[in-house]
Amino acid sequence: MLTKAREILKKYYGYDEFRPGQAKVIGSLLGGKDTVAIMPTGAGKSLCFQIPAMLLPGVTIVVSPLISLMKDQVDALAGQGIPATFINSSLTGQEAGRRLQHMRAGHYKLVYVAPERLIADWFQAVVGELKISMLAVDEAHCVSQWGHDFRPSYRNVGTFIASLPERPVIGAFTATATPEVKNDIENLLALQWPQVHITGFDRPNLSFSVLRGENKQQFVLKYIKTNANQAGIIYAATRKEVDSLYDLLRKKGCAAGRYHAGLSDQERMSQQEQFLYDDIRVMVATNAFGMGIDKSNVRYVVHYNMPKNMESYYQEAGRSGRDGAPGECILLFGPQDPLLQRFLIDKSVEHPERKQHELKKLQEMVDYCHTPDCLRQYILNYFGEPATNSGCGNCGNCMADGEQVDITVDAQKVFSCIYRMKERFGITVIADVLKGSKNKKVQQLGFDQLPTYGLMAQRTVQDIKTLVQRLLATGYLRLTESEYPVVKLAPEAFSVLRSEARVWQKVFTERQPVQDDSLFELLRQCRKRISERENIPPFVVFADTTLREMSQQRPTELTVMRQIKGVGELKLQKYGGEFLEVITTYLAENAAAASSTDTAAVPAPTKKTAGKKSSSKTDSEPSHVLTLTMYRQGITLEDIAATRELTVNTVQNHLVRCAQEGHAIDWDRLIPSQYEELIITTIKEIGAGQLRPLKEALPDAVSYAAIKAVLCKHFGETGKA
Ligand code: ADP
Ligand code: MG
Ligand code: ZN
Repeated sequence: MLTKAREILKKYYGYDEFRPGQAKVIGSLLGGKDTVAIMPTGAGKSLCFQIPAMLLPGVTIVVSPLISLMKDQVDALAGQGIPATFINSSLTGQEAGRRLQHMRAGHYKLVYVAPERLIADWFQAVVGELKISMLAVDEAHCVSQWGHDFRPSYRNVGTFIASLPERPVIGAFTATATPEVKNDIENLLALQWPQVHITGFDRPNLSFSVLRGENKQQFVLKYIKTNANQAGIIYAATRKEVDSLYDLLRKKGCAAGRYHAGLSDQERMSQQEQFLYDDIRVMVATNAFGMGIDKSNVRYVVHYNMPKNMESYYQEAGRSGRDGAPGECILLFGPQDPLLQRFLIDKSVEHPERKQHELKKLQEMVDYCHTPDCLRQYILNYFGEPATNSGCGNCGNCMADGEQVDITVDAQKVFSCIYRMKERFGITVIADVLKGSKNKKVQQLGFDQLPTYGLMAQRTVQDIKTLVQRLLATGYLRLTESEYPVVKLAPEAFSVLRSEARVWQKVFTERQPVQDDSLFELLRQCRKRISERENIPPFVVFADTTLREMSQQRPTELTVMRQIKGVGELKLQKYGGEFLEVITTYLAENAAAASSTDTAAVPAPTKKTAGKKSSSKTDSEPSHVLTLTMYRQGITLEDIAATRELTVNTVQNHLVRCAQEGHAIDWDRLIPSQYEELIITTIKEIGAGQLRPLKEALPDAVSYAAIKAVLCKHFGETGKA
């Protein structure tokens, strides 16, 4: 059976291998065992029920919480050639009836159903006559009150199962693993001796960081600007905060969307749609957004506020990088955040035991924001996974090592000022006093007489506030829980004032955003055209990772394209040709560009848009590869140039280009042996940053191509000069 599963994986999904855990879960379901799969967001749970659905007789019913997303999931399946449909309240009665008929006729392998529909008479009437092989409950934690997404309608699932004439095998899928939730899933869904598969919670492609005391608005503006091409989500705690951040971003000209429960259904749908279709790149949202959003190319998730617990955080942050490419998860911690969350818990949870439970989880979330140790390890520990001793090397805390700054003196100034103000004021007044502000309140209170008045006159008030916030976040100071929070000194602050302890702070270095090359950009445009034409989201056409691999491999034949991860049979048939054309056009144009430039090491990719017909050349091989073929036949550069009506320089550039693409090249034929040593020494002397200075320092007889060849041969440079 598993061999068949693997065939389907390749044929319909275009993947060569299962990810960790997938094969086990599939095997367990195919073996007829009830199965609970606890796998982190992005691990690939959908496939774990879709593939068995294809292999089992009859139909599989999939229960999924968000009706707005069913269409996308079903479209994605249809795009892969898997017969599926959905039934929910968005359909007219007539359409639902039509689908039920098709279902009865055995046209679908998968039917997605909203939990509310399960117990409807008309649905049960049809289902009672059918062979239901499997019931897959996606986001199964929704059944539990202990989870973070309780949906009363999920309780219907148990009733539904009991009502079926023949009990199907049941699969429950979730990313949340706490023991309470797991028990609820097993009991409320009435699973029978379930196999529980828990897959590693680590998501190695995600990097985590917590930034404290940051000016959140400025940070977000700057971050979005440097990552303008990437899709991302910014989660804020309240609707109000979402609205104001959204307004700010729109004002700054950023194509942002927003999403929260206060908007009309229609607006929410439209915003979500635009995000899925890459029409808006940034979504500002409350936690109402995202469950089941399987957009695979979300590159970052910024939390503008701290969420209420680690489960929520990891699930929300985990919406980045589902495609396995890097995703950045940044939490902007502010000292007000824990207060707000505590307030929300107080307001919403009545049961004392549950309240206690929620507060404990909140504290663990706050601790995550303050731990100086590896954040990934903290997460893994939290979810009960043994972590290694050394840090991950890819989180804010691991990366910030060695960049600790001693801020003891600044901290002492702040503490001393607070102490002299008798710990009775909020952040703003403290900052005003340190700044030496002339404002009325400061003077009336006589604070301009304090020795700490104006101690930080050279700094901006905002800077000083940021410093105070950092000290709050790191636990030297604390805020009272009152309407106007007052800053108090923690015991640690007194040790610092007595010079018994020093204060260190990590400085966050911004990482460079992922650089996409221009072919990738062209492929992306092609994907967008298809997406608009076929009315499906771009990532349903192909994932980012698939496009990236295409842009690196540059296949020029369908058979080669078929090898790329994510290219299944149907997609190859439907889209292969179009993407191939973009690639061949790109290669041809670049070859042309190469012949017209003299100095550039790599032909600069042209800005021309793809989709235009390529020039007269319709040869299967791109120009530069043709050059290589001739070169390998032993033809001299001059002869190649003459036969192909190119300059010698272009021919040389073609070869360098081939090397960049991974072809083996006999460099020695390009390097005049008498100059080889000299070229090496010159490169060592003046560096390989730019070619022109090298060319100028060397005898005229040494061509650019010779320099490039030496770089390739001896310096492993595939010519990024
Ligand atoms: P989850 O529901 O667990 O959050 P999804 O089922 O939405 O995750 O899958 C996330 C992404 O991973 C999808 O883009 C999916 O196509 C991809 N994926 C799943 N399985 C594999 C695999 N075996 N190889 C490569 N990509 C995979
Ligand atoms: Mg999922
Ligand atoms: Zn780490």
